[in-house]
Amino acid sequence: MSSDLHIHTTASDGKWEPKRIGEIAYRLGLSYISITDHDSTEGIALALKGAPHGISIISGIELGAYFEHYDIHILGYGFDYQDQKLQNQLAKMRDARFYRAQKMVERLNELGMEIDLTEIVAEAKGENIGRLHFANVMMARGYVKTRQEAFEKFLNKGQPAYIERFKLTVEKAIKLIYSAGGLAVLAHPGAIGFRSLEEEIASIRLFQSFGLKGIEVIHPEHSEERTSFYSNLASELNLLPTGGSDCHGPSGKDTIMIGKWTIPDEWAEQLLKQSHILGI
Ligand code: AMP
Ligand code: ZN
Ligand code: FE
Ligand code: FE
Repeated sequence: MSSDLHIHTTASDGKWEPKRIGEIAYRLGLSYISITDHDSTEGIALALKGAPHGISIISGIELGAYFEHYDIHILGYGFDYQDQKLQNQLAKMRDARFYRAQKMVERLNELGMEIDLTEIVAEAKGENIGRLHFANVMMARGYVKTRQEAFEKFLNKGQPAYIERFKLTVEKAIKLIYSAGGLAVLAHPGAIGFRSLEEEIASIRLFQSFGLKGIEVIHPEHSEERTSFYSNLASELNLLPTGGSDCHGPSGKDTIMIGKWTIPDEWAEQLLKQSHILGI
């Protein structure tokens, strides 16, 4: 039996509603799933409400953070998603996403693309706006052929429509999850782009001193070699191994990932055992 602890929904830049995720996970025979939307927990309650029996949902989130010049995603699991301090911080992060979206629309207009903020808000089904929503609209309007092209030519860091948004420091992100009763996990370390393995290991040890409890071992951006490297590193550093598909529905990297990257149920159970709140 297997589990998937990294899934996005319409509460951030996933294409599927939280309820649909539960149904798909059930059909695939998954045991534990976690909804890990960017800077939002809105999908968790909706997923819980509609979840078929036999699926266990662990509260989750993926927080945008930074360390030095690196973009770092911190996953949180098993926390109280109604925690007020957490919700206040998330509201600030979503406001910042909306503000950045306004600026990005202006930039795209200057670049000759007639895109309106209302289209982006409609695509995002709200104000938790990410760059994938922009890529979807740019593709639908024929300004690019693929989402990949939208990122490579316009949306990636260093490209003309890239605008920074507010992010937490890694330390603050980890502590925020901890203060809501959860466990913090480093998302897709293999995709961060550390300059060397020495720097990567030193950074992970530093994050551990902030309270990091796990690292993502299984992730679509990890090669087989990287996967076994992180699996060994997790046991060496006494970090919990986690993982999942990072599924965004049929709009992520153009393929459906759910069911293709799974972890053993025991990994999810170890994680739950260590969180302050046992399940939800
Ligand atoms: P943001 O949250 O606005 O910083 O946007 C980051 C999100 O954009 C990631 O979580 C991915 O879902 C998506 N993304 C980044 N690069 C690509 C890409 N090359 N192709 C498709 N989606 C991407
Ligand atoms: Zn995303
Ligand atoms: Fe991520
Ligand atoms: Fe993700």
